[in-house]
Amino acid sequence: MSTLEERIEQCTRVLQHVAQSHRPARVASSLGPEDMVLTDLVYRSNLALDVFTLDTGRLPEATQRLLAQIQETYGRAPRVYFPQAQDVEAFVSTYGINGFYHSIEARRACCGARKVVSLRRALAGAQAWVTGLRREQSPTRETLAEHAWDEEFGLVKYNPLLDWSRAQVWDYLKRFRVPVNALHDQGFASIGCSPCTRAIGADEPERAGRWWWEHPTTKECGLHR
Ligand code: SF4
Repeated sequence: MSTLEERIEQCTRVLQHVAQSHRPARVASSLGPEDMVLTDLVYRSNLALDVFTLDTGRLPEATQRLLAQIQETYGRAPRVYFPQAQDVEAFVSTYGINGFYHSIEARRACCGARKVVSLRRALAGAQAWVTGLRREQSPTRETLAEHAWDEEFGLVKYNPLLDWSRAQVWDYLKRFRVPVNALHDQGFASIGCSPCTRAIGADEPERAGRWWWEHPTTKECGLHR
């Protein structure tokens, strides 16, 4: 396995390439550990990449606090995209405010209204986007490519952390004192919306706390197919 230094060097090269070859290019951040690595690299190296995040309206308070902390640390923060009111209202009137617990269809409809529509707005006009996906995270991510044409959103998608281990991500965050979500200290490995995220045990897969009532092979919100 590559060392952390090698991983950082390689990831920085990819980010520089994306910034130079695709204008504009954007970095999608969930404010999770991997995305904080990318954000730190982009902000500290002042790369021409726009970092953005999606506020679904159901995020934990700790995630909002992290966003404020990023602003304090770097003097800038990811641009925040919110859902369209009519999409959320339509979901709630069809399925109920917490209808996502009742079926995969309802869950995907909620993620669609609260995340995917915002992602389309965030990526509009971009030539490339960068994500912090890693193969180890879930069965749905094992076969991803380091970069590939994203048919759904019509641009090139880069995954420069694909082969990083979870330990390497955390080594990076500690070494460079990158701000992270306070919920990680309470057993939350992967953090999304409040009602769809729970803490996990040490021996559980890292995305076990996301949509824990679903089978692992369905656990994507529509942002990454
Ligand atoms: S994670 Fe849960 S609350 Fe958030 S958009 Fe998806 S279904 Fe809705």
